[in-house]
Amino acid sequence: MTAHANWRDDAACRDADPDLFFPVSTTGSALRQIDEAKRICRACPAQGQCLAWALDQPITDGVWGRHHGGRAALYPKPMEKNDNEPGRRG
Ligand code: SF4
Repeated sequence: MTAHANWRDDAACRDADPDLFFPVSTTGSALRQIDEAKRICRACPAQGQCLAWALDQPITDGVWGRHHGGRAALYPKPMEKNDNEPGRRG
């Protein structure tokens, strides 16, 4: 058995409503859309390839491989050092 050259051929979202995967906000009914998109992703055989592809792109929105928000959401920038944080003085 060989892997599909194009993982999109196996995508569980091929016939799903695109609005589920690209909601217009992250509050209210959009949260239900995101949850529904992630539910579809859970059964997707291309989940790993989809997420890997999305992490290679400058994507900041949408549900990809059961995650929402792209690289910035998965790998937030480290916080700047703050000398006023407790334990950093002295
Ligand atoms: S993991 Fe989710 S967004 Fe990615 S191809 Fe599969 S169903 Fe679509």
